[in-house]
Amino acid sequence: MKIKFVITTVIAISSLYLIIPLEWKIIYRHILNQKISQQVMIPVYNISGAIIENTYGAPRSGGRKHQGIDIFAPRGTTVLNTVDGVILYTGRDTYGGNVVRILGVDKRIYYYAHLHSYNDFDPREKIHQGEVIGYVGNTGNAITTPPHLHFEIMKIKWLFPLRIENINPYGELIQ
Ligand SMILES: [Zn+2]
Repeated sequence: MKIKFVITTVIAISSLYLIIPLEWKIIYRHILNQKISQQVMIPVYNISGAIIENTYGAPRSGGRKHQGIDIFAPRGTTVLNTVDGVILYTGRDTYGGNVVRILGVDKRIYYYAHLHSYNDFDPREKIHQGEVIGYVGNTGNAITTPPHLHFEIMKIKWLFPLRIENINPYGELIQ
């Protein structure tokens, strides 16, 4: 009876492990590491804080609210990683187009969207502050908008299932 219970539990846990997204696994692997605070860098090359507008929470189509801030720059301008961390995801999503998500050493998730292109990273790969992530563009739902980086910071609210909450990145960049 006991051995049956153990086997059932092991099967249940391992099948759960197979279906949970890779991003969650990377987060779980790093969540117990020491939490390190870092000043968040401005993620677009040669852009001064003075020209960045605080558009967090601004209304968007379909009753949505803007979950981040937009940093406008010429197409192809270098996008830089803002804090040390590990790569969670590089690829495409419907709204964001070409996107990169990074788990920072501060245990927050950083999201870079509408990229013209991104550099070739593997999930779990370490990335340092100031490293080039990709290039400014207008992919995803920004296709009719001038090129800009859409930038978000998310706090982890709950680990399983993973729940996140956006915060306003503006105050983190402009100090
Ligand atoms: Zn945006």
